[in-house]
Amino acid sequence: MAGKLFIAGNWKMNTSLSEATALAGALVEKIGSVKTVDMAVCPPFPYLSGVKEALGGSKIALGAQDVFYEDSGAYTGEVSTEMLKDVGCSYAICGHSERRHVIGETDELINRKVLKCISDGIMPILCVGELLTQRQANETIDVVSRQIRLGLEGVSSADISGVTIAYEPVWAIGTGVTATPDQAQEVHAMIRALLGEIYDTPTAGGIRIQYGGSVKPDNAAELMNCPDIDGALVGGASLKADDFAGIVLEGIK
Ligand code: PEP
Repeated sequence: MAGKLFIAGNWKMNTSLSEATALAGALVEKIGSVKTVDMAVCPPFPYLSGVKEALGGSKIALGAQDVFYEDSGAYTGEVSTEMLKDVGCSYAICGHSERRHVIGETDELINRKVLKCISDGIMPILCVGELLTQRQANETIDVVSRQIRLGLEGVSSADISGVTIAYEPVWAIGTGVTATPDQAQEVHAMIRALLGEIYDTPTAGGIRIQYGGSVKPDNAAELMNCPDIDGALVGGASLKADDFAGIVLEGIK
């Protein structure tokens, strides 16, 4: 296990401003002083400032759901690392499966985002994971290995400790179907071994690998107890303060 667990909530394209700040406020009340688990929430871009304010001096960090690799200029709709830092973000999700499969992001684009985050002091959460058809065709290891190798191209061993990998089997995201602890652990162990090849074993041991895909308070413990699972990236359940707090509390047991 790579140090403290890291549990992050991806709110996706959900909430209004008042719902977002209320959710953040409720989380501060329930888990805002937890020190033994690293925590972050990733609201939609327009609500980052408001949520940052609601998080106040709590232990819950702010993350963005995406980022762009240029500093500024004619990139309509994009958001830079400096803008994210300006509103208090510490993390940015790169290559979430919805961006890969709905928006069409490529490994090369995702890699540019990861590198830009690292060079500008934002900690990237690099998401990887196979489609159901790929799992059924026994391609999971190939797909995930390729996404990791390409996503981390050019990331030095000095910088990799600031990167979180999120293994999110696409068939488990938002479906209510969770990978079993054995299924998740198998891929996490493979990812850790691959990181050991790319860097070295001690370095790989320090890289946090989150699991994501229908994590809930009642399945979080068995997943996070697996030796190579270092936390969770939570979608649906992060929209309910009780559920996200419940997952974090499972992490400190
Ligand atoms: C996610 O969006 O990263 C995710 C894991 O979603 P859910 O928890 O809803 O499956």
